[in-house]
Amino acid sequence: MATPLTAARLVAALRAEGCTVHEVPGWRTNNRNHKGTWGPVHGVMIHHTVTGPDVDVVGLIFRGHSTLPGPLATGCITKDGVVHLTGNGRANHAGGGDGDVLEAVIGESYKTRPPRPDKHDGSAGAADGNARFYGWECENEGDGKDPWPKVQYDAMVRATAAVCRAHGWTGKSAIGHLEWSDWKVDPRGIDMAAFRRDVDELLAHEPGWAAGSSTYTVARGDTLWSIAASKLGDGNRWREIATLNRLKNPDDITPGQKLKLPRK
Ligand SMILES: [Zn+2]
Repeated sequence: MATPLTAARLVAALRAEGCTVHEVPGWRTNNRNHKGTWGPVHGVMIHHTVTGPDVDVVGLIFRGHSTLPGPLATGCITKDGVVHLTGNGRANHAGGGDGDVLEAVIGESYKTRPPRPDKHDGSAGAADGNARFYGWECENEGDGKDPWPKVQYDAMVRATAAVCRAHGWTGKSAIGHLEWSDWKVDPRGIDMAAFRRDVDELLAHEPGWAAGSSTYTVARGDTLWSIAASKLGDGNRWREIATLNRLKNPDDITPGQKLKLPRK
């Protein structure tokens, strides 16, 4: 099934997988479909944004910049693990790449890594990646030093698994930009073979599953923050608990209520 997901199906798939989703206003009609084809789709491409903390990275991926109009991806996954949807359709993220890689992704026929690309944007015979791949632009400076927080990495894996599950693909349908184009180095610091194994691990379970997840019974005086601090070691992870349990109002928990907890 290689027909692109509708906006509604993409959102539903991401939420069911346990992602924290933020729909950037206007994303459903933001695309480059007037400039080229969109679909059939065959995979998900992972990128780093090359941005630091002072940049409105979500706005950048939505709008693009003076030399490259947006959207620059289907979504932007920020360091706090939120999946910001920025584009519904063709986006300027992949550019030209290697058709042999595309064939290997379509057939999911490679072992741990697709064939090394020897094409890039502008190469003779390059394949049009923007027509074929969803793209996640992931907030990172791309200098090899900027860390990938666990909550962000997990969101990248989960968002990719959501798309793969919706299409009936395996983790082999997810590649890094550097596996597509011999000009690219992103996502620097992510081992894509390990990333694909992590996607496959999610796909082997029900949507929303997390390794080492457990249950907690709410006691009097608890808040999501206090539970996250005591059980996960970081109060900021209260958002993960809210997402996992589909809590509409995070303040609305009652003693005796059972909450699923993500892995520590
Ligand atoms: Zn890239």
